[in-house]
Amino acid sequence: MTPKTTDNDLAAFRAGANLRSRFETLTVWKNKNQRAPHKPLLALWAIGRCLRGEDRLAGYRAVDEDLRKLLKEFGPPRKSLHPELPFWHLQSDGVWEIPDRDRIPLGKGGGVPRKFLMEQDIAGGFPYPIYQAFRNSPVLAIETAHVLVAAHFPDTRRGEVLAAVGLDPEIGPDGLAAAAGGSRTRDPRFRENVLAAYHHRCAVCSFAIRLPDKVLALDAAHIRWHGANGPDEVGNGMALCVMHHKLFDTGAFTVVPDDLTVIVARSVSGSGSKRWLGRFDRRPLRVRPERDLPEATHLKWHTSEVFRDPDIAA
Ligand SMILES: [Zn+2]
Repeated sequence: MTPKTTDNDLAAFRAGANLRSRFETLTVWKNKNQRAPHKPLLALWAIGRCLRGEDRLAGYRAVDEDLRKLLKEFGPPRKSLHPELPFWHLQSDGVWEIPDRDRIPLGKGGGVPRKFLMEQDIAGGFPYPIYQAFRNSPVLAIETAHVLVAAHFPDTRRGEVLAAVGLDPEIGPDGLAAAAGGSRTRDPRFRENVLAAYHHRCAVCSFAIRLPDKVLALDAAHIRWHGANGPDEVGNGMALCVMHHKLFDTGAFTVVPDDLTVIVARSVSGSGSKRWLGRFDRRPLRVRPERDLPEATHLKWHTSEVFRDPDIAA
């Protein structure tokens, strides 16, 4: 027998949907171009705390230490990281509270004084109703986390981001794929079209292992991520083996537009780095399509927003 839906269930459902959409619309992509995963990472970090049953408010010193690591690992390549900015500005999205906000001496032009936040260990966290909603419904908390990750990171990094904030990547409520990525839908032909354009080979290493009727471990990678308004067009795609897809989305290498040359980040090292990356450095892509070459604007986006060494590709 199906349990009867009560008014309470409906109210809870509506409240949950409202809450998710508030996080979905975090104003973070500046003109859909520069990556700014600061707010989503702070929200994810705080969701992890909720699910572990930790206090609603966290002192800024803890936020600073953890968010700095997250930004370094998952943020765009930037010389300075600013964990104090999301800590302050997430308030304007209505999902963050700093009870002592009036004590904070903002600089001219509204600058947030990190030194003061550190010295005073100013506390911040989700407003009480949000914290309580997540505590009451771990499913809602997990769904919200998945929505945030899908909107701001490529699929290849989903598990790493979730794990870094203490969430189990294997646990996700069903039906999330539809909600992921906000209102934009994905073109199901993207994968097929990209793989065909590259003759079912990895653009970097020409890897092409197949079973009689199936290509194995070959992805249609987005150059400009879906969440950054990257279109589902062959010009925004490359066929990459799973290893090169992951390395590309992590920023270990990029491709420069002029002659479609692979550039490997200087900081790459370790066993296998020569085999998987070093030998392709400063060499043209091995496989390229006859038409619909990777577009310069998308490659430039990848170089400045994802690649770890943007200056050497300039
Ligand atoms: Zn490859």
